[in-house]
Amino acid sequence: MSDEVRIRKSIQELPGYKAGARAQAVSGFTPYKLSSNENPLTPLPSVVSVIASAAESINRYPDPLATELTTRLAEKFQVDPNCIALGTGSVGVCQQIVQALCDAGDEVVFAWRSFEAYPIITTIAGAVSVRVPLTPSGEHDLALMAGAITDRTRVIFICTPNNPTGSIVNNQDLIDFLAKVPTNVLVVIDEAYVEFNRDEQAVDGLAAFQSFSNVAVLRTFSKAYGLAGLRVGYLIGPEALAEAVRKTAVPFGVSSLAQAAAIASLDHEDELLDRVQNLVELRSWFESALAELGFQIPASQANFIWLPLGERSEQFAKQCADVAVAVRTFVGEGVRISIGEREALEVLLPICAQYV
Ligand SMILES: *Cc1c(COP(=O)(O)O)cnc(C)c1O
Repeated sequence: MSDEVRIRKSIQELPGYKAGARAQAVSGFTPYKLSSNENPLTPLPSVVSVIASAAESINRYPDPLATELTTRLAEKFQVDPNCIALGTGSVGVCQQIVQALCDAGDEVVFAWRSFEAYPIITTIAGAVSVRVPLTPSGEHDLALMAGAITDRTRVIFICTPNNPTGSIVNNQDLIDFLAKVPTNVLVVIDEAYVEFNRDEQAVDGLAAFQSFSNVAVLRTFSKAYGLAGLRVGYLIGPEALAEAVRKTAVPFGVSSLAQAAAIASLDHEDELLDRVQNLVELRSWFESALAELGFQIPASQANFIWLPLGERSEQFAKQCADVAVAVRTFVGEGVRISIGEREALEVLLPICAQYV
């Protein structure tokens, strides 16, 4: 036995979560960060002031059950409050789900490429990732995913709109898929970007939750509501699952600041969703500009677009960094560009033109 502290082998080998790069200063350019799908707008002044008042009682632990926020969400979605569980961002909820459902060696199925956090969370739980390739156009291959289910499968993540490709899953396709999934396998529909979706054929996660006993929906305040830094997301799912997910949470993880800011954001939802609409229009503008350049990329329903540049991805990202714009590179695969500030996207277009 070695005399050193023993780190689990799976954790030693685990690559750390790669956050989107910060924009590097370049003289003559305004830095922009388009690498983490953040909302480019600072919070509403009314939300900031609620956070500031909540800060005055930060000597106390928060309400561990986030009672008021839970009640508000239950009213908004017309669901039983017992079907809601919160976490430190919906990433936190993903982790709580896998911890609650998987023993060592159990399997978690997800599309690949999809959200970076799924394989990391799976490894941390001692479970096994089963990555099912996206179709060539970047969509979930539900037939292949159904075929990947074994008697060790405990959780399936469906990310729609998908990060990083921006594609949605068709609602009827999801319903047909759910009919094939054994009812003892949980299907988690990760709707982190649902507020940016304008495709009426896309998955309706809430309806699926209401029709199937093994479906949970994940939502977050990080993207559309602009609270990424405060870490608050939630699940709407079967009561027994919500209860289990509360048990695997870090105690008092969702701070009183986060709870207050989330409630204030629900109070000002119309204004926040107007901001989302502006981002959706900016996305359309950017997609049209790329199409005019000659790109043929599938429509995104999220607050980012995906350029499948393959081996040229790193070179592209370097050219963006040279004009102080940070984008997200997936080496050898593509580049994800968040729909942030219009000026930043304008700066990128001449670079994009070289990669058609
Ligand atoms: C950003 C993101 C989340 C959630 O992030 P949190 O800040 O933890 O709420 C969840 N799923 C996907 C696919 C994301 O891209």
